[in-house]
Amino acid sequence: MEVFVRDIANILENIAPIEYAASYDNVGLIVGSFHKKVKNVLITLDLTEKVFDESIQKKCDLIISFHPVIFKSIKSITGKTFSERVIIHALKNDISIYVIHTNLDMIWEGPSSYISKLLRINREKVLFPKKETIKKLITYVPVDYAEKVRNALFEAGAGNISNYSHCSYNFDGFGSYMGNKKTKPFFGKKEIFHIEKETCISVLFPDYKLNIIKNALFKNHPYEEVAYEIYNIENTNPYIGIGFIGNLMEKMNEYDFLLFIKKKMNVPCIRHSNFTEKKIQKVAMITGSGRFGIETAIEEKADVFISSDLKYHDFFKYEKKILIVDIGHYESENFTKSLLKSFLDQNFTSISICESKIHTNPVKYFY
Ligand SMILES: [Zn+2]
Repeated sequence: MEVFVRDIANILENIAPIEYAASYDNVGLIVGSFHKKVKNVLITLDLTEKVFDESIQKKCDLIISFHPVIFKSIKSITGKTFSERVIIHALKNDISIYVIHTNLDMIWEGPSSYISKLLRINREKVLFPKKETIKKLITYVPVDYAEKVRNALFEAGAGNISNYSHCSYNFDGFGSYMGNKKTKPFFGKKEIFHIEKETCISVLFPDYKLNIIKNALFKNHPYEEVAYEIYNIENTNPYIGIGFIGNLMEKMNEYDFLLFIKKKMNVPCIRHSNFTEKKIQKVAMITGSGRFGIETAIEEKADVFISSDLKYHDFFKYEKKILIVDIGHYESENFTKSLLKSFLDQNFTSISICESKIHTNPVKYFY
């Protein structure tokens, strides 16, 4: 089966909607064409010139990068920076570049899922829920068809609230209508006033599933003109957002916990604050730069906050309130290559998908 850049983008955007990316970010297809045929894909954390050379060697048509090679708008492309040189090479060699970054960070099945499995943490919720991600659908269905429509909506992803699925609110009433001569009413006759016993169904759903939910409704509702309303909901979804908080299966002392992180996350060096002398059970974490999360982690009563790019004074400031751990930006995100590969492997069998072998960490450690 032929695979195009568009097919790969569709899968990734279904998993991590572009709308979830931070406003400062630059995600999606940033170089190339959606219509390009793809045989070989290279996944990288950072798109450096060495990674680009690797993509040439591996005859790749598409590079998927976590960090965007273009962050801010560019006024000229002359090759004065590595990112400009990568863009020039990509265009010359007809290689497309696709970025999936903070939109991936936002999803429950994203980096935090991978890390919590690795560290055996039962996640409770995200640390910073994203706002405006929930919508409500209200529709009116003939009573005998209510079950079919309700189930189709559940199957399409509606009705999930925290640990509950199949959530809906229903009540029966009467709907009225009169179709003109162009209509073919499912019940009643055209140009004759009709009253039908209907069930009002109300369900919540994540906003990025809007089209899937509407398709499920239209496909399963018997009327040619479906009556429905969609509303934005102010409540936040505890499973969409940045970072996570959860509990270790077993309490650990701080020293053992750091050893455990070092080994599991393959970190050469950990920076941490003074030990609090408390056991570690509740863990808060933000992959990548996450110093903005320290105070929220304390409010959530986490025993430890793990992230990267923390500042010197952060290690002083919170004293015994929480153990602060900086594992390095690269180390906290390098596994995203494997995560993205697993998403694509589940959906594409006719193309080759590989992770870059280049160590792109610009931070060097001198022991
Ligand atoms: Zn990052």
